[in-house]
Amino acid sequence: MNKNTSNVHEKTEKSDFLTMDRRTFLKTAGLLGASVFLGTYKTELVSALALSETKILWLHGAECTGCTESLLNGGDPDVLVALQALNAKLAYHETLLAGQGIFVDGKPANTSELNSEILVDELIAEGNYILVVEGAIPNGPEGSGRFFMVGNRTFKELFAKAAGNATAILAVGTCAAYGGINSASSAIAELTDYRGVAFTKNNSYGGMLQELGINKPVINIPGCPSHPDWMLLTLSAVVLGKIRIPGDLPSVLDSYGRPKAYFDEDVHDECPRHDYYEDEEFDTEIGGHKCLFKLGCKGKHANADCSIRKWNGGTSMCIQAGSPCIACVEPGFPDSARPFYMQGGGSSDGGESDGGESDGEKSDRRRGDDGDSSDVDSYDDGSRRDSYYRRGDD
Ligand code: SF4
Ligand code: SF4
Repeated sequence: MNKNTSNVHEKTEKSDFLTMDRRTFLKTAGLLGASVFLGTYKTELVSALALSETKILWLHGAECTGCTESLLNGGDPDVLVALQALNAKLAYHETLLAGQGIFVDGKPANTSELNSEILVDELIAEGNYILVVEGAIPNGPEGSGRFFMVGNRTFKELFAKAAGNATAILAVGTCAAYGGINSASSAIAELTDYRGVAFTKNNSYGGMLQELGINKPVINIPGCPSHPDWMLLTLSAVVLGKIRIPGDLPSVLDSYGRPKAYFDEDVHDECPRHDYYEDEEFDTEIGGHKCLFKLGCKGKHANADCSIRKWNGGTSMCIQAGSPCIACVEPGFPDSARPFYMQGGGSSDGGESDGGESDGEKSDRRRGDDGDSSDVDSYDDGSRRDSYYRRGDD
């Protein structure tokens, strides 16, 4: 546990978090690791949720399963302990489901116990679930979504059905949040047309939900992969109703739909090598111990609490392990971080940048609860929709 976390833990140890106001809760949850948070409040969590079981439906789009790996590697608590503490049921998760098949012993399997297509359709029909999406959603070719088939239907169709009946939607990992590596500039990017759930890159009107005409708020938990604490703590806050959807979202999320509790810090500001940056002492080869800026570190453009929270149970993080930050949590990733490991590049939105971003631009980007945001925006066809984020594309 780092010093910041330790202090917060001591201060909040005796607090009844169920009576905390929303802002205090989010600040507390944001600073505590998932392990400390769930361990401290386990009794209250279980009693608060004793009468309700929350279902989680987790879909895998185009991705490497890295976010699920990250969640499983979280370890403390492991995902089973966390779900138990939350009284939540992982009702559908393709990586973790028991073996299923269309045919069993040569005969068609027509029950939800044996056939995952039937299972997911039954769960969607029942409703009352939190939808977690990991991975991007291809719209190509030509809007058909047929570049990604799951059984007899496109992933686009499955996502539309699941999103339409969900009580809340979380997009975990940069692929689901913004398209990620799938949406990187390439000769075939236009043809494949990969979308994030609510955003594509920094465009809050370019996600798959907008393409489908579904008006639902989404919480983005980016990262390549996402941190287990970011996923578990956000899920906890949603399950507990500590983030009320949609009412709290404009104040809780930044302009790119990320919880400000975890994505408000710059990696650079609290970087363990920051003193070397101030003293202009830079490494020019991988393997040193000084600032990695000249080796392409994009920590100045990465909004995430990695430097404070750390990874692997709070032991280390990319820069500490000697790797320049590639700003994997930003909407423009990976284009915005190119070239990797070379000085230059670095922006949030995928556009060109010389690495400079004024403090004013930073605070404008982070602001999610003021400024000129309106509650209602318009689609291109003139219809109206609620706006849950400040626009990121204007
Ligand atoms: S290593 Fe990267 S994040 Fe750390 S001080 Fe240098 S430029 Fe900033
Ligand atoms: S330090 Fe940078 S590259 Fe590493 S996880 Fe954090 S934002 Fe991503």
